[in-house]
Amino acid sequence: MIDFSLSDEQKQLRDLAREFTQNEIVPVAAEYDRTKEFPTEVLKKAWELGLMNVQVPEAYGGMGLGVLEDCLIAEEVGVGCTGIGTSMMSNMLAEGPVLVAGTEEQKKKYLGQMVEEFAFCAYAVTEPGAGSDVAGIKTLAKKVGNDYVINGQKMWITNAAQAKWFFVLTYTDPEAGYNGMTAFIVPADTDGITIGKHEEKMGQRASDTRGITFEDVKVPEANRLGNEGDGWKIAMAAFDHSRPVVAAAAVGLAQGAMQHAIQYAAERTAFGKPIAKHQAVSFMIADMAMNIEAARLLVWKSAWKTDQGQRNTLEAAYAKAFAADMAMKVATDAVQVFGGYGYSAEYPVEKLMRDAKIFQIYEGTSQIQRVIIARELFKKAR
Ligand SMILES: Cc1cc2nc3c(=O)[nH]c(=O)nc-3n(C[C@H](O)[C@H](O)[C@H](O)COP(=O)(O)OP(=O)(O)OC[C@H]3O[C@@H](n4cnc5c(N)ncnc54)[C@H](O)[C@@H]3O)c2cc1C
Repeated sequence: MIDFSLSDEQKQLRDLAREFTQNEIVPVAAEYDRTKEFPTEVLKKAWELGLMNVQVPEAYGGMGLGVLEDCLIAEEVGVGCTGIGTSMMSNMLAEGPVLVAGTEEQKKKYLGQMVEEFAFCAYAVTEPGAGSDVAGIKTLAKKVGNDYVINGQKMWITNAAQAKWFFVLTYTDPEAGYNGMTAFIVPADTDGITIGKHEEKMGQRASDTRGITFEDVKVPEANRLGNEGDGWKIAMAAFDHSRPVVAAAAVGLAQGAMQHAIQYAAERTAFGKPIAKHQAVSFMIADMAMNIEAARLLVWKSAWKTDQGQRNTLEAAYAKAFAADMAMKVATDAVQVFGGYGYSAEYPVEKLMRDAKIFQIYEGTSQIQRVIIARELFKKAR
């Protein structure tokens, strides 16, 4: 049986996120974009309301909600500001590997911490020389007695400066390729860690992105996630939980852009009538609505699959690629609907177009999603 309706609890959560967005994010989004400050106060309120870390199981003090519930929140927050949304969502990206592969003790300690106190964690996989090509990372972890000593550099890490701990992907055996990768939970206050400068970005400026250097960083064996050689699988499995949520944020951004476009098109007149009455404009908005709804359905299906305990790699790639490309197109068309005013930083859609671009890059680029989709299809064809 297919049922697209949300439960009362899901509707309440969505309404809570919607209200939070309207009251706490919308009024300050432009200002955080301008100042590029980290939105601590907004995020603290989100944490207090229970809008962060929602996938942490009840056994570790969390709400134990599903990926779908996380998507409902991400979409609503995305309507207001995806820069603030990325800062909110990134905890879940780092929590994913611990959820997937952590021991009871690791889960209790590191997931528990995120719900006990207002705190952040970060997913540190990308390096200066390797993003899409994860096998190209150079960070090494060497076993010394009962410890590992980590050396290397990570790049573009969201919330690096705020994090209490990092999920770090390394090589323990570089000769073994994907099977030589090992993952660790590394507390941010460990000696030998240097956090890089705040990166100046095109969009999502309320999110904080930095490099991290690891120089002889010693972590005990107890901080290894899974076994030696499991790192790649663990890092990728986390995407089953996070890609639908990132795609949902892109849907939210597009929804916000369309709302601005509808309002403006109804008010602005040209050639003696509101521009909404010019079919070229109203059809552009009709296309926005159609594609937003299609993306939302892909997001919900990919989230539902993970929540059912099924592998969602293909559906998550569909959702992420479609929603990211759709958000970029909708934001660009919203600028078009605003004409010259759309190009002005004094109107909201200019920010949305800058913010939208990152969805085609982080969490696996739009090209990499297609690589995944093609790989899955040809796997089935064999
Ligand atoms: C704001 C921001 C936040 C980020 N947050 C995090 C984070 O928290 N943690 C983290 O680990 N990383 C993070 N990243 C890194 C992000 O995931 C990478 O930038 C992304 O995966 C792309 O890697 P790259 O930048 O090295 O580009 P490259 O991999 O060098 O790609 C360059 C271009 O080549 C294309 N390309 C590469 N390989 C192929 C292929 N096989 N087929 C077709 N096209 C290909 C890509 O699609 C892209 O267009 C963040 C990045 C940004 C900008």
